[in-house]
Amino acid sequence: AKNLGKNDYMLFSPEMYVNAGEELLLENDLRQALKKEELELEYQGQINANTGAIIGVEALVRWNHPEKGRLSPGTFIPLAEKTGLIVPIGDWIIRQACRQHHLWKESGLPPIKISVNLSAQQFLNQSFTASVAATLQETGMPPEFLEFEITESMAMDFNYAEKALHELKKLGIRISIDDFGTGYSSLYYLKRFDIDALKIDKSFIDDLSGDKNDAELINTMIVLADNLGLGVIGEGVETREQLDELVRLGCHTIQGYYFMKPMSGDDLRCGYYDLIRS
Ligand code: C2E
Ligand code: CA
Ligand code: CA
Ligand code: CA
Repeated sequence: AKNLGKNDYMLFSPEMYVNAGEELLLENDLRQALKKEELELEYQGQINANTGAIIGVEALVRWNHPEKGRLSPGTFIPLAEKTGLIVPIGDWIIRQACRQHHLWKESGLPPIKISVNLSAQQFLNQSFTASVAATLQETGMPPEFLEFEITESMAMDFNYAEKALHELKKLGIRISIDDFGTGYSSLYYLKRFDIDALKIDKSFIDDLSGDKNDAELINTMIVLADNLGLGVIGEGVETREQLDELVRLGCHTIQGYYFMKPMSGDDLRCGYYDLIRS
C-alpha cells in the first residue's frame, strides 16, 4: 500500500476503491475475452445520399460480457489501451473485418469497403504495419477495400506517423481522419500525409439545423477536402433536416442512424438489398 501523508487520505474515497477493484476485475475478464470469443464486430453503412447505395461500412467492436451483457467500446477500449491489450484485440479486429469482407463476397454481395478504427497505442506499436501486412496475406483481403480511421492526435508524433502511414499506403490501404475538427490539428499533416477522406464529427452535425456557425464550419471543411482532393463523410446524421443540409453543403456520403444503425455482419448480408432500396 501507499504511504499516505496525513493530509492525503481524503484523496481515496471508498468509491475509488470499488472502482479500482472493478476495473481490475474487468481487466481480467478482458484478458480472457479474445480466447472466449466474446468480442464481436458490428457494421454501419456509409451511404451515398444521392443513390442510396452503400459505399462502405465502419466496423464497430462490441463485447458480449458473460455477466454484464453487451458492452459498448467506450467502456472497454480505454481499458484495453491502458493495459496494452489493445494490441492483440486490435489485431483481431482487423483480421475479423477482413474475414467478414470475404464472407460477404462469398455470399454474393458486391465488394464493400470496410473502415476499421485504430487506437493510438495500436498505431504506435512498432510491429503494427508488419502485422497488418501478415493479416492481408493470411485473409486474402484486397487492400483497396480496407480503410483505417485515425484521429488527428495520432499525427502528433509527426515523423512516426508519416513513416507508418507511408507503409500502410504502400500496402494499398486507405486512410481517413476520424472526428475531424475536434482535435489538435496543424492542417499541415493533411498535405504531407496521403489521406483519402475526412469524417466530419457528429458534434458539428448535431445542431446543424439551428446553428449557422456549424453550417459555415462544415462548409469550410468540405471546401478544404475538395481542394486537397479528399473524400468527405458526414457522421452521426439522425434527421432528414441534417441530411438535406449536408447534401446542400456538398457532402454526399452519410453515416448515421437516419440511414442505418450498426448491425451484425449476418444482418447486413440478409438486409443488404432492402437497405440500399430504402
Ligand atoms: P467513432 O469512431 O466516432 O464511431 C461512431 C460512433 O457513433 C459509434 O458508436 C456509432 O455507433 C455511433 N453513431 C453512428 N451514427 C450515429 C447516430 O446517428 N447517432 C448517434 N447518437 N450515434 C451514432 P460506438 O459503436 O459506441 O463507438 C464509440 C467509439 O468507440 C467509436 O467512435 C470509436 O472511437 C471507438 N471504437 C469503436 N469500435 C472500435 C474499434 O474496433 N477499435 C477502436 N480502437 N475503437 C473503436
Ligand atoms: Ca470511427
Ligand atoms: Ca467519429
Ligand atoms: Ca453548435
